[in-house]
Amino acid sequence: MIPLSVPHLGGNEWTYVKECLDTAWISSAGTFVDRFEEAVAGYTGAGHAVACVNGTAALQVALELVGVTAGEEVLVPTVTFVATVNAVAYLGARPVFMDADPFYNLDVEKTREFLDRQTEMRGAACVNRATGRRIAAILPVHVFGNAADLDALLPACQERGIAVVEDAAESLGTVYADGRHTGTLGAVGCLSFNGNKIITTGGGGMILTDDPALADRARYLTTQAKDDPVRYVHDAVGYNFRLTNLAAALGVAQMEQLPDFLERKREHWLAYRDAIAGIDGLELADVPKGARNNHWMDPLRIDAARYGQDREELMARLGSKGIQTRPLWLPNHLQRPFRDHQAHRIERALELHEQTLMLPCSAGLTAEQRETVVGELRHG
Ligand SMILES: *Cc1c(COP(=O)(O)O)cnc(C)c1O
Repeated sequence: MIPLSVPHLGGNEWTYVKECLDTAWISSAGTFVDRFEEAVAGYTGAGHAVACVNGTAALQVALELVGVTAGEEVLVPTVTFVATVNAVAYLGARPVFMDADPFYNLDVEKTREFLDRQTEMRGAACVNRATGRRIAAILPVHVFGNAADLDALLPACQERGIAVVEDAAESLGTVYADGRHTGTLGAVGCLSFNGNKIITTGGGGMILTDDPALADRARYLTTQAKDDPVRYVHDAVGYNFRLTNLAAALGVAQMEQLPDFLERKREHWLAYRDAIAGIDGLELADVPKGARNNHWMDPLRIDAARYGQDREELMARLGSKGIQTRPLWLPNHLQRPFRDHQAHRIERALELHEQTLMLPCSAGLTAEQRETVVGELRHG
């Protein structure tokens, strides 16, 4: 059995978790939470990092931090894990769906066209002409670790007072050519440490921001909005979204191994790319120039006519050999809860969905396992 993406616990995980157990510091306070936040802030260059219970909660709080309220709209890519879109719905706000570019990311060109042609400024608010609602924020996602082209998007948002929240759940370790990390360009960035991500805490997330006031607010909201923690005074509706020290202990151990994981992931990508280049009808998806990719996932593109099998057939055949693969998410504008929402000229997303299959890419994947995968792909 070759799994798609599983955790690699090869460092100080046991030592740090044992320290939590030995000292009974296992809950929502403790030195590992601070150490984990410092490690992530230091690594990414974010001014502040606030640990959360998971990436979805981080996104929900991030949207609240930038002022998204019920009835307003948030522009989202249709190609993303549903958590991105659900976070918008939790606030009672409405997602408006944008198409994908060739790297599975938000199509910045089309999004700018949407802003130019379909919105207008009413006072300080950017209003969607079709719905009459304010567009409060945009939520670009660095899909599979591919750096979204934010430099081309940020000015159009700034001009219109649209807040940018980055979903960097999949892109820890992805760095633009000038050294900036994904998740640190928008007002707020969100990370995930779910079990299948590049590093894991079992479950966990992080809010990144350079704004100290937003960081304070994030800490406040994620810990039940305690205005007087002794006398139980709460001036806002908060959440129980803090990460436990036990989970953070895993996070500290995983951060120590991140450079090694990035190297292994890059090795997988290079090896797959070279081997698959010789197979007619198959291609490893290209990655954006201008950034060093974390290669979290390795998406395979299938030209069914040339290859002789489509995505479903290939997935079934690999599965029968114990090789786990996954298709691209069903585009979110087609998901039942969001079908009646506006979707702007979605075209490429549907094609990507048809043609994509994710290959096994765990940090612990061996060269021999990679060759098994490629061998099966060749026997199409
Ligand atoms: C994993 C993921 C999330 C959600 O993170 P959790 O920690 O699982 O809640 C959000 N967005 C994207 C793009 C993800 O891949």
